[in-house]
Amino acid sequence: MPDRSKGDSRTLLRRLRDTLATPGGGQDRLDRITSLIADSMGTEVCSIYLFRDPETLELCATEGLNAAAVHHTRMRLGEGLVGRVARTGAPINTGDAPSEPGFRYMPETGEEIFSSFLGVPIQRVGEKLGVLVVQSKHARQFLDDDVYGLEVVAMVLAEMTELGAFTADHGIGATHRFPVLFRGATGQEGAAEGRVWLHEPRVVVTNPVGDDPDAERARLEDAVSALRTQIDGLLENAATMDKEQRQVLEAYKMLAGSRGWVQRMGEDIGLGLSAEAAVEKEQSTARARLERSPDPYLRERLNDLADLSNRLLRLLTGQGSDTGAALPEDPVLVARNIGPAELLDYGRRLKGVVLEEGSVGSHAAIVARALAIPLVIHAERITTEALNGDSILVDGDQGIVHLRPEESVSAAFRDKIAMAAEAQKRYADLRDLPATDRSGQTISLMMNAGLMADLPSLKGSGADGVGLFRTELQFLTRARVPRRGELAALYSRVMDAAGEKRVQFRTLDIGSDKVLPYMKPQDEPNPAMGWRAIRVGLDKPGVLRMQLQALIRAAGGRPLSVMFPFIATPDEFHDARGALLHERDREAARGRPVPEELKIGAMLETPSLAFAQDSFYAACDFISIGGNDLKQFFFAADRENERVRRRYDTLDTAFLTFIERIIVRCRHTDTALSFCGEDAGRPVEALTFAALGIRALSMRPASIGPVKHLIRRADLQELRKLIQDARNQGAQSLRPVVTEYLAHL
Ligand code: PEP
Ligand code: MG
Repeated sequence: MPDRSKGDSRTLLRRLRDTLATPGGGQDRLDRITSLIADSMGTEVCSIYLFRDPETLELCATEGLNAAAVHHTRMRLGEGLVGRVARTGAPINTGDAPSEPGFRYMPETGEEIFSSFLGVPIQRVGEKLGVLVVQSKHARQFLDDDVYGLEVVAMVLAEMTELGAFTADHGIGATHRFPVLFRGATGQEGAAEGRVWLHEPRVVVTNPVGDDPDAERARLEDAVSALRTQIDGLLENAATMDKEQRQVLEAYKMLAGSRGWVQRMGEDIGLGLSAEAAVEKEQSTARARLERSPDPYLRERLNDLADLSNRLLRLLTGQGSDTGAALPEDPVLVARNIGPAELLDYGRRLKGVVLEEGSVGSHAAIVARALAIPLVIHAERITTEALNGDSILVDGDQGIVHLRPEESVSAAFRDKIAMAAEAQKRYADLRDLPATDRSGQTISLMMNAGLMADLPSLKGSGADGVGLFRTELQFLTRARVPRRGELAALYSRVMDAAGEKRVQFRTLDIGSDKVLPYMKPQDEPNPAMGWRAIRVGLDKPGVLRMQLQALIRAAGGRPLSVMFPFIATPDEFHDARGALLHERDREAARGRPVPEELKIGAMLETPSLAFAQDSFYAACDFISIGGNDLKQFFFAADRENERVRRRYDTLDTAFLTFIERIIVRCRHTDTALSFCGEDAGRPVEALTFAALGIRALSMRPASIGPVKHLIRRADLQELRKLIQDARNQGAQSLRPVVTEYLAHL
């Protein structure tokens, strides 16, 4: 690039900055800016269009077009050349604007006499703020250097718009003001209203213009080299990472090492940007480019790029992720993703959690579920849209998030929360009553848990016990395998808190996708069907043994119930059971107290067990159906894949006939049976299971009230008969008959 243009560009940026530093209203500044740019670019026209709302651009200032059109001329996103620049995030440079596809003639502006058009997006990290346009009468194609120079100016404008420099007069150009709706997916049910708390707040760039290019370049180079060292440091621990984490870091390393990346930022600095603004500009441009790419792999790299740029910005500005801001009163955590330990640190202070990534089975989701905090996952781009302190509504049931909602939406949402709270209050009256139906059949309602902090809900919900205590969390939230003593102390406190009520501990269900930080990652194409749960426990028995010892010690002389996850064949159960009995006998031989009663169960999560021989059922003290896994394997539909996870209905006749088969087998062998997947907490599903003959259901504590309420009003025998009739008549789904029955209760 010729030095002359660099010098011009730097002078222009400095003049822009000075303009902004002088007092005056937003409109006044915009006017001065357009005339400065037109003057510097040697064009007759310079105009700034800013977003009025996410779909509409408004001409906010112009040098050269009809002044009366300012704040009158508007266009939709994608409409005309300006709208096209805004939509695509890419510049348009033409010597003959009227013949460009999509050109829209706006008579009020008087622009018909200008044939050359150069428009560049005003954007900040992929966030669209507006369009900057220069036009001239004679037909000329602007040089690449002009395009580049105008982009740099637009970058500085973006930073200034961001800083609220123009917002005073017309309330335009300020993003982060409009309500935005995000459609994600359910991670954990429930509703919450609160204020945004960004887990990693964005770095604020306050000095978009650099005075000394050499000094800025040196700062950039230092920061890039510190970044590379940081990534190398992270990669040193690669052995303890899962495949995906490792791949992401490798991608970072490649990007951070890319000469083109650093070179482009160096050029931007040469044109007058500060090092920070150069990082942002490069990120915005690359983002716009990647977003247009049809290749999903490339689009995914967007996140890597954002993360890397943020790291670099933190290094440059010295801003850590802890900005010292205080947690708002009703914090809703917003993040790309979050680790289980960090989420647990926030704990129940959080009203809700919204993630851009995540999955139903992710560690964060497990924690959110354990803490009963509404969680929405896959809320794309929310971290770019949300600002700390923004109002936010989280609808975990629908997987929807309202950011900066209109008052009417908030009011409707509050009504919904109040109704749910009201219903919970009504359910509280049922707390000490049994879940007995009108025909006199009592169903045992238990709760699922995973933390000591869950135990108070045992009393609050009126649950008969803990039907599933998931033991993964204590393993997930530490940097090493927890010690036997630590686990024994925790399990013992859980039993203390449960008192006379029974707790069914499930041994560790981990492996494959749920890799522990200290486990060697396995490269598995199909993790849910991979080396997980009891498969790991039996093949590498060290941790399983330790956990079983901890459970036995925790029980002391008290009764103990243990179940093994993901049993697929009788011999797996026999081996696991054998390991538990072996540990018990060893403890006894050492003279330590052992459980006065030991109940050993299997989780039925694979269809194979429904067909196992009777001797297997007879050997189990109890069986608990893990409906989440069982259903995914029955229908061959991944429980974590949004596209298919709701595709098949739990009340499908085939699935319920299959469940009934298990019920019948347990009845014949006198084996206690419970159901502990999420469906047990859905009232319609729960009632259907009960009608089919399941006598124990384990669910989220909050579901106990609604399920009990329904069971107490129903006649399970009557419903059972209706279900049989519908099945005999060939119904594919039993949902219509069950809901029809409920409607007349
Ligand atoms: C299940 O699969 O239904 C279950 C209870 O186990 P998890 O959800 O922990 O896999
Ligand atoms: Mg399971």
